[in-house]
Amino acid sequence: MTLANFDQLLSKYADLIIYKGLNVGPEDYVQINAEVEQVQLVRLMVKAAYQAGAKDVILNWTDDVINRTHFDHQSLETLTDIPSYKIDEANDLIAKRTKKVALRASNPNALKGVDPQKLQAASAASAKAFKDIRIATQANVVSWIVCAAADADWAKLVFPNLATTEEQVDALWDQIFKTTRVYEDNPIQAWNQHEATLEEKATFLNEQQFDALHYTGPGTDLTLGLPANHRWESAGSLNQQGESFIANMPTEEVFTAPDWRRADGYVVSSKPLSYNGVVIDQMTFHFEGGKITQVSASEGQETLEKLVFENDGARSLGEVALVPHKSPISQSGIIFFNTLFDENASNHLAIGQAYATSVQDGTQMSQDELAAAGLNRSDVHVDFMIGNAEMNVDGIRKDGSVVPIFRQGEWAI
Ligand code: ZN
Ligand code: ZN
Repeated sequence: MTLANFDQLLSKYADLIIYKGLNVGPEDYVQINAEVEQVQLVRLMVKAAYQAGAKDVILNWTDDVINRTHFDHQSLETLTDIPSYKIDEANDLIAKRTKKVALRASNPNALKGVDPQKLQAASAASAKAFKDIRIATQANVVSWIVCAAADADWAKLVFPNLATTEEQVDALWDQIFKTTRVYEDNPIQAWNQHEATLEEKATFLNEQQFDALHYTGPGTDLTLGLPANHRWESAGSLNQQGESFIANMPTEEVFTAPDWRRADGYVVSSKPLSYNGVVIDQMTFHFEGGKITQVSASEGQETLEKLVFENDGARSLGEVALVPHKSPISQSGIIFFNTLFDENASNHLAIGQAYATSVQDGTQMSQDELAAAGLNRSDVHVDFMIGNAEMNVDGIRKDGSVVPIFRQGEWAI
């Protein structure tokens, strides 16, 4: 590592994740999901969590290479058999209100070449087995954060033109620190300001209560209905106890859910997407009456088709997010092949499950009530990027009047 003051920056990053991101306090249980290469950062996070008063910090280690080896050698039957003790463990963590960190560092192509049938079956089995836990997390019963760490294979894909692995990894850390505001003297204060700025846009959109959004741009003409009493949200979230947390670091988006029954038109993707360890690129989607009727991709088409047509609820949308084209991540011009970064550089939509928080009092509703309110129910939630410098977005009121929200890729409000 040649990045100046790397150890100090990593320590600031660990503190930011634990104190601001998860907002760990006395008597909290914490779970950290991370890859084995990230032990230096994880050690710092564990220490920070105990300093904040955590009761216990539970670790869940993974490794890309071993994960790949499992896929290469296990039968479809074994891959789709989720032991009940794993579900019990997950339920126990929820019961203890365990605050969860997902530290992402995977090679975006870690599972390239694995039989798409195996990948789809394994992710569907896991989605079904952990359904209750996923729903609880998405309804913010517990605090959670998704954040990133640099890994050699990932860095190589993002910075292929840098000569050495060390330079590639350094460049990726540099981007992670920049976009999460770790270079600021006081990153937590910088995040407080950032939260307030995004919240202003969300407040305006919540007051407007548009009936629909209309997207136009090269290859795109899409109208999305919005549910009654929808709620736009941004960086800051509250868990069931009313404790604040930041679900994504970095984050630049203001988002809600479209009505899963009202999407018509077509849209093209503007960035590649890594899903199930496979890169999917240059996608087009056609919608009719809320449902995807047709998809195509220049790369990863089979994986995309399986995602959309073989998962419950994956033919409808569960998220609509606004991100200016000039967001700091977009300005870097870098394609990260990692949704946490790429979605925060671009307007995006998500196939599948909507967050219960996207309508007023949604966290108190049953699954059927959420669906009736217009929030899509699905086993998957996969964001894909659609924003570009020419995109216009209009808000359409119930009376048909139109308010420009985005012009030429930038906020117009
Ligand atoms: Zn999003
Ligand atoms: Zn999303």
